[in-house]
Amino acid sequence: MKTPLAEFTMDELTTLVSSCGEPKYRAAQLMRHITAFDAFSEYSDLPKKFIAALKENYVDRAVKEKTRVTASDGAIRYLFETQNGDLIESVFLPHDYGNSVCVSCQVGCGMGCVFCASGHYGLKRSLTAGEILSQVLYIARDRKACGGVNKIVMMGSGEPLANYDNTLKFLRFVNSEHGINIGMRSISISTCGLPNGIESLWRDSIACTLSLSLHAATDIKRKKIMRVAENYTVNQLVSALKTYFDNTGRRVIIEYILIGGFNDGADDVAALKTLLSGLCCHVNLIPLNPTDHCDLKPPSKKRAYEFCEKLKSVGLSASVRRSMGSDVAGACGQLKNRTVEECKASAVENYKK
Ligand code: SAH
Repeated sequence: MKTPLAEFTMDELTTLVSSCGEPKYRAAQLMRHITAFDAFSEYSDLPKKFIAALKENYVDRAVKEKTRVTASDGAIRYLFETQNGDLIESVFLPHDYGNSVCVSCQVGCGMGCVFCASGHYGLKRSLTAGEILSQVLYIARDRKACGGVNKIVMMGSGEPLANYDNTLKFLRFVNSEHGINIGMRSISISTCGLPNGIESLWRDSIACTLSLSLHAATDIKRKKIMRVAENYTVNQLVSALKTYFDNTGRRVIIEYILIGGFNDGADDVAALKTLLSGLCCHVNLIPLNPTDHCDLKPPSKKRAYEFCEKLKSVGLSASVRRSMGSDVAGACGQLKNRTVEECKASAVENYKK
């Protein structure tokens, strides 16, 4: 299989153009085409001979769109095919303050959280940096007329810190002035909680918004819904987050899915207070999005907001997240490589619930 050009950093492109006998400034020209998600046919400022040489060993695009579904709130769920035929999903989320893209970093997921559709069939493979990047570049081009992409969230399928090297390369590209130049403050990574990966981020000078999928404040409860809790305790995770804050100055986000009758009681408020007091964080409450594979249900809207008020009353900063894209199964935990027909069918199901 040929290597997609989106796999190259600026330095690597410079080496590439030299090896083709071209002047160094061609690297910047190439980078502009890669960033614009251009096809080879649009590389009009490059010599034909050079384009022919590129075509022999490389491909212009790492993903192609198979289908898309647009939700009533404007979110768009894209289904992409990689070169080897794997299917991955990304979601475009338009907001008043700018547009976000939620990218996938793995085909499937190996973390095995019971409430999440992405992990239901396990991990097929990790995506390369160029495949992660191409989701953003494609959508930025597709949505150019509505302002392109201003924010990136790594909250699609997969665990970013279990695909660390590609995640790092991707982040460096989007953050680079040669790439699409999106600031660290506009990039969020969500992790199920791998302390070594959290440490690697700040050691590699990545100071993005870091979200921890906590979902339960005690180890006993967390083990019931997240396999990763067998390996790391909640205290280990909070300690890793404190060190992340100390080294980056970035307040961390605690993601907490609200599951009716499971983690939405007074004892959960008390356990969260004990665990999180002393950590500079904001608790993001996400009423569970239903999936086909588990019977868990969200609490009522009223109960979710009451839980939020209780957290605030014990001194925690908290809010209930507005979920987008749920009528096309594009909300958190609902991504799992379906076809449009299946998306529509499941959207109907969700409306019925
Ligand atoms: N592996 C990463 C990112 C993927 S999921 C992680 O675990 O954080 C992104 C967010 O959606 C996580 O907080 C995840 O726990 C949450 N999520 C997964 N399934 C969900 C569901 N059914 N309803 C609501 N949120 C869900």
